[in-house]
Amino acid sequence: MKLVKDQVALVTGASSGIGKTVAYYLAKEGAKVGVNYYSDEEGANDVVKKITEIGGEAFPVQGDVGNEEDVLKMFNKVYETYGNLDILVSNAGIQRDAPIEKMTLKDWETVIRTNLTGAFLCSRQAVQYFLKRGVVKGISKSAGKIIFMSSVHQEIPWAGHINYSASKGGLTELMRSLSQETANKLIRVNSVAPGAIKTPINEDVWKDKEKKEHLLKLIPYNRLGEPEDVAEVVVWLASDKSEYVNGTTIFVDGGMTLYPGFINNG
Ligand code: NAD
Repeated sequence: MKLVKDQVALVTGASSGIGKTVAYYLAKEGAKVGVNYYSDEEGANDVVKKITEIGGEAFPVQGDVGNEEDVLKMFNKVYETYGNLDILVSNAGIQRDAPIEKMTLKDWETVIRTNLTGAFLCSRQAVQYFLKRGVVKGISKSAGKIIFMSSVHQEIPWAGHINYSASKGGLTELMRSLSQETANKLIRVNSVAPGAIKTPINEDVWKDKEKKEHLLKLIPYNRLGEPEDVAEVVVWLASDKSEYVNGTTIFVDGGMTLYPGFINNG
């Protein structure tokens, strides 16, 4: 039995990396998927093609998650295309790194706008719909599921990346408060917090031998993560298998949050 059969999902930032694989995995488990992209139409078309090739359903939908008008249009396109929504994966995220003394207001605002305001705008639209629609028997036990793509940096401080870590820290309390607000309406809200996953966002690190070796010292499990490691957990969180899981973060990080500096430290 497919885990999210006949459900409709919207995945933001799905033209590359983790979002692309999440879209594919949800489709593989029976969901119809809106594949959101910002500017990389080719990447979105590629995942739609891969989904169609395995007999799944998906369509590309453009939109900047930090732009209210774009978000409204994007959700409307999903309703027009599939007449429904069951799962939101709010995944779009960016980095604009700099030490604070060199960080521009634009660097700060662009990251907060995409990573945090984008999550607010998308989850607000999803909740409005889930509240109106309620539970659909035979489809899911919940009225809707929201999964935020956070990061280990919701917890681990990250010098040189204060805009990014602040956005993910903010996302954590957005997720927890929203879950508290909507759980009694049977809307489930959770986060997945990846560690170091091989995607375009960090390729300057994993493609560089020295930087990769340093990074591996921070991962007790001693390998970088793959988008598939994250997608498996997202699909589970989106399914009824995790029905009683509410307002929590699942770390998919090979143990990165286990203070690896203390290994063999007396
Ligand atoms: P990625 O760069 O491949 O993916 C980010 C996606 O977001 C891209 O498709 C990009 O086009 C899209 N995007 C950017 N701005 C957007 C906007 N305004 N509107 C819509 N889409 C937009 O990198 P990724 O690693 O796949 O990142 C996905 C998520 O995972 C991000 O939220 C990131 O913070 C998080 N994450 C990644 C890692 C990692 O190691 N790769 C670790 C922790 C968290």
